[in-house]
Amino acid sequence: MNKYTKPVLVASKCLGFDHCRYNGAVINDDYVAALKSEVDFITVCPEVEIGLGVPRNPIRIARQNNNKVLYQPATGKYFTDQMKNFSSKFLNSLDKVDGFILKFKSPSCALYDAKIYSSIDPQSMGEKGSGFFGEAVIEKFPHHPKIDEGRLKNFTIRENFYINIFCLAEFNKIRLSPRINDLVNFHTRNKLLFLAKNEKITRIMGSIVANHPQYTADVVFELYQTHLWEIINSLPKFNHWINTMLHAFGGISKHLNAQERKYFLDAVEEYRDERIPLSVPLSLLQSWAIRFNLEYLLHQTFLKPFPSKLVEISDSGKGRNH
Ligand code: SF4
Repeated sequence: MNKYTKPVLVASKCLGFDHCRYNGAVINDDYVAALKSEVDFITVCPEVEIGLGVPRNPIRIARQNNNKVLYQPATGKYFTDQMKNFSSKFLNSLDKVDGFILKFKSPSCALYDAKIYSSIDPQSMGEKGSGFFGEAVIEKFPHHPKIDEGRLKNFTIRENFYINIFCLAEFNKIRLSPRINDLVNFHTRNKLLFLAKNEKITRIMGSIVANHPQYTADVVFELYQTHLWEIINSLPKFNHWINTMLHAFGGISKHLNAQERKYFLDAVEEYRDERIPLSVPLSLLQSWAIRFNLEYLLHQTFLKPFPSKLVEISDSGKGRNH
């Protein structure tokens, strides 16, 4: 059965860790709270780090002379350089990181949806873009899993984020001292998961692993990682998950009676119709893999890509991307 490597996540400190918002508030996010026992968090409040206290006057992003500036309307002060310098120093200091959970809409932390005013005039119009720290994260870690607390509430995006951080944490662990055997094992255990995300790239990764004698371990890991980033950045299509479940079921069905086979296929249809979560048909496959001692399936991350503590009973599967 799966043992999970704990991912290391950088998180905005106001997401349940400290009362560091401009008004002294903290945001209690249930999903971040549930993750606390399953991941190692490195928390940061960039605005506090650059010397703005709590409470503080709000800052905003504005355009000035074709540049983006970080501006505090109440004092007329600029914090652009301090924020850029802090972000770069902090991100360069990270030894190991597997993903990011950042506060949305913040002029500092937002990944995509901070308000950017067209000038420092308080009445000016706004557009959406990254906050200064969020932008530095995207530039320094373009492929890493990243999410904001708004998207964390979306079932599909959240589940994909969990899948990606646990997968990447394991890869980053074996990447520390690259050994081909570890990579073969990693690819074998993740094969069904990767097939469910992107079949073409999974085949390419398989051939990189199979052709390993031609290269040093470092080169093989480097080549493999290029495609792992593509897998991580593909959003799973739920019909691909169904095809992969049916593929796994193909190896089990000969052990089952007609009623059990029908029961599973009905569950798949209910999943297709968004009446039950993915965890239901996956649990059926897992229970049969245990009963018939199907080693190959038992070790597949596909059956349990992240700890059960993060699977919620309330997850109906609604809101999936088809
Ligand atoms: S959004 Fe970022 S900068 Fe603002 S309070 Fe939260 S952690 Fe601090």
